[in-house]
Amino acid sequence: IQDFLTAQEITVTDPSRNMTLRPVLKFDQLPPSRLLAKGPFKNFTVPTPIQSASWPLSLSGRDVIGIAETGSGKTLAFSLPCIEALQSLSKPKSIAAGPLPANSRLNKMERADVAQALAVVVSPTRELAMQTHAAMADLAGLAGLSAVCLYGGASKDDQRVLLRKKNGADIIVATPGRLKDFLSDGTVSLASARFVVLDEADRMLDKGFEDDVKEILGQCPARGERQTLMFTATWPASVRGLAESFMVDPVKITIGGKTK
Ligand code: ADP
Ligand code: MG
Repeated sequence: IQDFLTAQEITVTDPSRNMTLRPVLKFDQLPPSRLLAKGPFKNFTVPTPIQSASWPLSLSGRDVIGIAETGSGKTLAFSLPCIEALQSLSKPKSIAAGPLPANSRLNKMERADVAQALAVVVSPTRELAMQTHAAMADLAGLAGLSAVCLYGGASKDDQRVLLRKKNGADIIVATPGRLKDFLSDGTVSLASARFVVLDEADRMLDKGFEDDVKEILGQCPARGERQTLMFTATWPASVRGLAESFMVDPVKITIGGKTK
């Protein structure tokens, strides 16, 4: 195992526990799941290093920080444990709305439902959110789960219609600004979110989304009552701060030479 970790330049930092990581070296080492037969795995030969090292931890329910460059396969690294986690839950599809916030422009009929996501993936840009949604939607579909992408620069009403059509959407992939707007106007609730992913956390903070991200995380269940994964290419103090405030005993996996 150590030879594999060294050869793949994988560093695992797990300060509170003294566990031996058993990386997933082949897709058939994953727990049996109906996703495996039909999922994107069939096109890939072996898991990428971030997938190998993070899956045993994320699939066991741990909070995980993944530090890896672009193109290293992070989307599948978080999509698989996300969907596995959701498959073991049953969802309150929608709840009756309480009083609307004053700033809501929804009419009576439209506010019948609040979209109650079971999982949320926060992405720094519309393009990344759309790519992630496209990749996750396939896997989600195989599991009978729905996924919706929410981003700024597009019609809010169209996105509300989409949410209603999906009966709320199990998985929301979103940019921080639009998601925050939908939380404050009662379109979306994260009170039932059990799985939270911050993708490209360093870029989100660089783009000035720190307050939005904190607001979003603050509307999720307490950190002990959800699983939180965070992916980032770099490890500056601001990103460390997010991990300290919003994750429980995270294990940190770094791919490639040094932790920046
Ligand atoms: P990142 O989020 O780290 O930038 P992506 O998740 O977008 O990377 O993956 C980059 C590309 O690698 C995608 O085209 C994806 O389909 C592909 N990919 C993911 N996992 C594997 C794998 N195990 N083997 C081969 N290609 C993979
Ligand atoms: Mg990515």
